[in-house]
Amino acid sequence: MRKPLQKQINRPMKKHNFSAGPCILPESVMKKAAEAVVELDGSGLSLIEISHRSPAFVDIMERARSLVLELMQLEGKGYEVLFLQGGASLEFLMVAYNLLEKRAGYINTGTWSDKAIKEARIFGEVVEVASSGESGFNHIPKGFDIPAGLDYLHLTSNNTIFGTQFKDFPKGDAPLIADMSSDIFSRVIDYSQFDLIYAGAQKNMGPAGTTLVVVKPEVLGRVSRKIPSMLDYQVHIAKDSMFNTPPVFAVYTSLLTLEWLRDLGGVAAIEEQNEKKAKLLYSEVDLNPLFEGYAAKEDRSLMNATFNLTRPELKETFDAMWKEAGINGLNGHRSVGGYRASMYNALPLESVGVLVDVMSDLERKA
Ligand SMILES: *Cc1c(COP(=O)(O)O)cnc(C)c1O
Repeated sequence: MRKPLQKQINRPMKKHNFSAGPCILPESVMKKAAEAVVELDGSGLSLIEISHRSPAFVDIMERARSLVLELMQLEGKGYEVLFLQGGASLEFLMVAYNLLEKRAGYINTGTWSDKAIKEARIFGEVVEVASSGESGFNHIPKGFDIPAGLDYLHLTSNNTIFGTQFKDFPKGDAPLIADMSSDIFSRVIDYSQFDLIYAGAQKNMGPAGTTLVVVKPEVLGRVSRKIPSMLDYQVHIAKDSMFNTPPVFAVYTSLLTLEWLRDLGGVAAIEEQNEKKAKLLYSEVDLNPLFEGYAAKEDRSLMNATFNLTRPELKETFDAMWKEAGINGLNGHRSVGGYRASMYNALPLESVGVLVDVMSDLERKA
């Protein structure tokens, strides 16, 4: 038996982490995950050295899969939950590999949708049903027609880079598929309107290394091509998400985050907090003449707030100020510039308060 941990695993210099991903996770989750790497639940073994077929890990996987359904209110509604690898980026092609026979529809809200479209084109015809590209992806397209006869319709529920978020989802006959990487478990929505949901864990659920897939099996098995085992959702479903060695650390840490979320009151409780955080920040963006928001107001993301300085010459001063205040990860995506404050589930309201104080300080000083 290993000796018990001598001292608590503490992080002395905690920053206000607005990073877009990998993102902030709850402090308690970090500690439990770190402890489990040393020793899992008094077993004398590390989480990352136990067999993934051991009862201890099978239990972890089962708890994670059922908690996903519980938090999404999808229990008993015929969904399967998978923890895969390859990131959301591999899902861009797995979705098409498994579901695209002739024609699929994609709503293009910018980078990520673009990448999903590029992969899907390898497998069949892609119809860009709507796009906000002509206005720099600063809004969510609305009022478009969905053509008949699509194998599926794909959208990105929250655009992490431009800071836009679907509030209502299109309804049609085709199965609806969503990349929810950056807003999964952040707000109450009717998840049952989707036939397949996927999300890289590292935005709102855990560390990088696993991708959550929630799928209705009846939309699978309709394509005529042969699918390699590792890329076949049906193979992973048949093996209870254990076809090969799963990413044990990422799955366990995701489970800890989901338990944290459940104990907090679930998705409805976190949505309330997320709305408070977003309201605080967007109010400052709107009231402070030195800042302007990027995304159209009605489509603003609760998770990723994008904004710019109205006087770009203040950039150096502002950057120094927020860094001095212990803020991390405020720079916009390299493809768009400006600023982006990512306010994922685990980011405390207090951190947003610190940022807003810095923004109003800048106004006083300028
Ligand atoms: C980050 C992100 C991705 C890419 O995820 P990986 O896990 O790095 O492949 C895809 N879609 C969205 C919406 C994202 O935010």
